[in-house]
Amino acid sequence: MEKISVAVRFRPSTGEDASGGRHWKVEDNRISLHRPLGTPISGVSFAFDRVFEQSCKNVTVYSVLTKSIIEAAVNGFNGTAFAYGQTSSGKTYTMNGSEDDPGIIQLAVNDVFSSIEEIKEREFLIRVSYMEIYNEEINDLLAVENQKLQIHESLDRGIFVAGLREEIVNSADQVSKLLTLGEANRHFGETNMNVRSSRSHTIFRMNLVDLAGSERIAKTGADGVRLKEGKHINKSLMALGNVINKLSDSGKQRGHIPYRDSKLTRILQPALGGNAKTSIICTVAPEEIHIEETRGTLQFASRAK
Ligand code: ADP
Ligand code: MG
Repeated sequence: MEKISVAVRFRPSTGEDASGGRHWKVEDNRISLHRPLGTPISGVSFAFDRVFEQSCKNVTVYSVLTKSIIEAAVNGFNGTAFAYGQTSSGKTYTMNGSEDDPGIIQLAVNDVFSSIEEIKEREFLIRVSYMEIYNEEINDLLAVENQKLQIHESLDRGIFVAGLREEIVNSADQVSKLLTLGEANRHFGETNMNVRSSRSHTIFRMNLVDLAGSERIAKTGADGVRLKEGKHINKSLMALGNVINKLSDSGKQRGHIPYRDSKLTRILQPALGGNAKTSIICTVAPEEIHIEETRGTLQFASRAK
């Protein structure tokens, strides 16, 4: 029954250029490129399940896109929500939020606890894990000594990361503390895109995912370590794109689904295929200087439909 919903979210313009995002026209959840202003470029028009404009808050994104996944998850389905997009387009903001605009993860965790509170006839055990994939290596964000972990598969556990710490949690507050701990353990690096950008994918289990930047290596002018990171990030994202593309093909023509092509897709396999609901939040930057990257993200996103 897997169902993938794909949304695009514009982050507010930062004033990096004066365009303010007006060259992207949004109408009925369809985004098209007008350049120069007022002149649509033929062929550059994409439709989505939903488009969130610049002023939109996390709570709206959550209610429209992710809340139903959490409800299904409490009823035994697998669910995944992830953010995809170039560095500085708002993935971390969407997932982690800010002081006055809690992110998807917090809102989901709150809902999980309030839903199970209401189900008196069942007892739940909730475990959380938090990992990063950095250069195709899996590290535990809740226990820094657990590095380079391996993916295994067994009949009773399915696909799992061996040695990953799983904390049992009883409250949303406890989860927040673990998230803060995990954040402190993430790898960060500078790129010459002039942002302190995150160079790893992170997976918070209760199944909400934050991906690293999708920009092409060329634009970041990467070399050495950064180039290696860029290659791995691209490999994972390419694999993710292929898997999602296959999954969204209907029935018989679908064929082999290449989950094994990257650590990211392998770990997400149970969350993407089979008995799963997925929402993809594609974050984009509205400014004119980001048009090419935005186009790339929209292409990825429309392929997933
Ligand atoms: P990414 O994780 O994709 O690299 P970030 O989430 O770090 O990007 O966002 C880059 C900057 O833009 C941050 O300063 C963040 O606070 C801000 N930002 C992103 N999205 C929003 C939003 N929807 N509303 C307000 N600020 C945002
Ligand atoms: Mg980020």
